[in-house]
Parts: sequence; structure tokens; C-alpha cells
Amino acid sequence: MTAIINLLPKGTVLPDEPLSRHTTYGIGGPAEVFARPANQQELADLLRFAFAEGLPVHFIGSGSNCLVSDAGVAGLVISLAGALKAFQMNSGAIVAEAGVMLGHMVRRCLNEGLTGMESLVGVPGTVGGALIMNAGAFGGEISTYLQQVRVLTSKGEEKIYRRADLVFSYRHSSFKPDEIIIAAEFHFPMGSADKISTRRRRASAERKARQPLKFRSAGSVFKNPSADLAAGRLIDQAGLKGTRRGDAEISIKHANFILNHHRATAEDVAFLVKLAARTIKQQFGVQLELEIRTLGFPPQYWEEAGLGS
Ligand SMILES: Cc1cc2nc3c(=O)[nH]c(=O)nc-3n(C[C@H](O)[C@H](O)[C@H](O)COP(=O)(O)OP(=O)(O)OC[C@H]3O[C@@H](n4cnc5c(N)ncnc54)[C@H](O)[C@@H]3O)c2cc1C
Repeated sequence: MTAIINLLPKGTVLPDEPLSRHTTYGIGGPAEVFARPANQQELADLLRFAFAEGLPVHFIGSGSNCLVSDAGVAGLVISLAGALKAFQMNSGAIVAEAGVMLGHMVRRCLNEGLTGMESLVGVPGTVGGALIMNAGAFGGEISTYLQQVRVLTSKGEEKIYRRADLVFSYRHSSFKPDEIIIAAEFHFPMGSADKISTRRRRASAERKARQPLKFRSAGSVFKNPSADLAAGRLIDQAGLKGTRRGDAEISIKHANFILNHHRATAEDVAFLVKLAARTIKQQFGVQLELEIRTLGFPPQYWEEAGLGS
């Protein structure tokens, strides 16, 4: 433990850091070791150390799509939120490090009249997390104008993926789970100012109208089973809106959001997640799939509800 803490400058590597401080849910027990490296060199040093020691490694961005267990996470949790934030823009070509906030990239594109990101306005998170999730909204996806991505392998070695090497689909990407994204390059085309502005305003208005943005959440819990079958609609039809467990609630405004009203635990949220999945399977014969990523739960924890995570 001391060896890894002393590997990087003071304050970069923390033992027993509560992950509730690093998730939008505000939920999550401690990471055995938590690190926020300031640059690629520090990140590579951490990865090499963990690899040599056989320490399990997990990545998070800003934790806006994560449910972390109350017991916390064994091993090393590396966060790039607030780190690796370099952003270069040259006409439509953008190189963003993985810790750049997605909202920053959206704003910069809007300011320059570039199209492709305007419907992602309001999606929280980092560029790294957005690429892993292939974040998208109202018809736009982050992968559309992607050119290439730089990652570090579990041994701290740099590798480049060209767009053609990668597969993206609805909330899915083909990145290897033990590789961490450090930067990405995009080429956005110029768009019509009117069309960009209309799409941005529509996306923003729909988000405010449909989503319970005043409460802590991790966005949509489940993927939509298909383009014309929304998970939220099924949960609503099953009569589960407003169901509570402790301080967690299936949102009345949007049934695919499970909210933390204040003091919800991961156990409370997970109870409602499993209840919704089991009920939808029983009532409609549809097996829901998690969109949120879960950390620190034993694999069998989700199996009873058919949710392999
Ligand atoms: C109110 C609200 C609304 C939302 N609306 C939307 C929406 O409209 N559309 C949408 O797609 N999502 C939405 N989300 C979910 C979330 O914002 C996105 O999934 C976002 O892209 C996650 O980014 P993050 O940095 O927070 O990633 P995290 O939640 O921290 O991590 C997500 C996954 O990416 C991995 N990861 C993170 N960074 C890296 C990295 N650098 N290298 C390798 N792996 C990494 C993590 O291990 C994890 O598996 C919403 C969330 C909230 C709270």
C-alpha cells in the first residue's frame, strides 16, 4: 500500500477514498486505492505498478454512469475526471484528452459552428467515459465523427486505434476493458447555424421536459430493448413509477431513472434495479439489460434478475 501511495506526488493516490465523492449518484463505498494521475506519465507508472503487483485496476471518468457497491471496490480505481484535460482545436479537427468534460467539447463545437455534437448538450461525463459508452442523445452519438483513439494498455504501453478498428453501437463500444482511453481525435464538419441551433434547443428542451434533473442519478438505468420499445415505457406500464426503497425511487417523471433522494445506498438502488428487471420479464417476457456500469458487486449479485454485469 505505501509503495503505491509513494509512487506519485502527494495527494494523487489515496487509500480508502469514498467513491460516493466521485459518482453522480453520490453513492459508493471506498476504493482500496484511488488515484487521479496528473498526466500520461503518472498514469503509465500506476498501470505498470499495478500490473507488476497483480492489483485489480478499474477506471472511472466522472462516475455519471456508475453504481458503486456500498462495500466499495478492491484494488486500484483510476479516475481521469479533472485530469488529462488538454483540448486542441484546429478548424474541425479536435484532439481531446480523456478527462475533458463532454460539455466543454459540445460548447466548443457550437461556438465554431461545427455540427455533430449539438444533440449531446446536457450529457454529463468525460470524453473517455462517453467513448466507452458511445454516449448519445436525440439521434447523435459521440462516435460519429471520431477518427482515432489513444489508449494505454494494462502494461502502460501506448496504442492507437483508428476508427475502422473500433465497433460502436447503441451504448456499446469494442474497447478492451483493461485499456484506458487517454485521448481521442475527431473531425467535425461545419453545419448550418440555424439547424445546429434548432437541434441544440430541441435536445435541451426535451431533456428538461423528460428527465428528473433535480435529483442525483446515473441517467437511464437500462438500455432500451429496441428502437421502438423504451425501457422506461415498460417500467411505467408495469406500474413501478414512484416505487421506493429507502431513499431510492423509480422516478415518477422518467421510469428509467432511479433517483437518490438524499441518503440512498447502493443496496437500495440495486433492489429497485432488480425489482424492475424481474417485473418486466414476468409481465412482458422482455429481459432488460443494464446501461449503467456496476462496480464492486460480485457477478452473481445481478444474476437472479437476469442482469449479467
Ligand atoms: C442526468 C444524467 C443524464 C444522462 N443522459 C445521458 C444521455 O442522454 N445519453 C447517454 O449516452 N448517457 C447519458 N447519461 C450517462 C452518462 O452521462 C454517460 O454514459 C457518460 O458518457 C459517462 O461518462 P463518465 O465520464 O461519467 O463515465 P463513467 O460513468 O465514470 O464511466 C462509464 C464507463 O466508462 C469507463 N471509463 C470511463 N473513463 C474511461 C477511460 N478514460 N478509459 C477507459 N474506460 C473508461 C468506466 O470504467 C465505465 O465502465 C446521463 C447521466 C446522467 C446522470
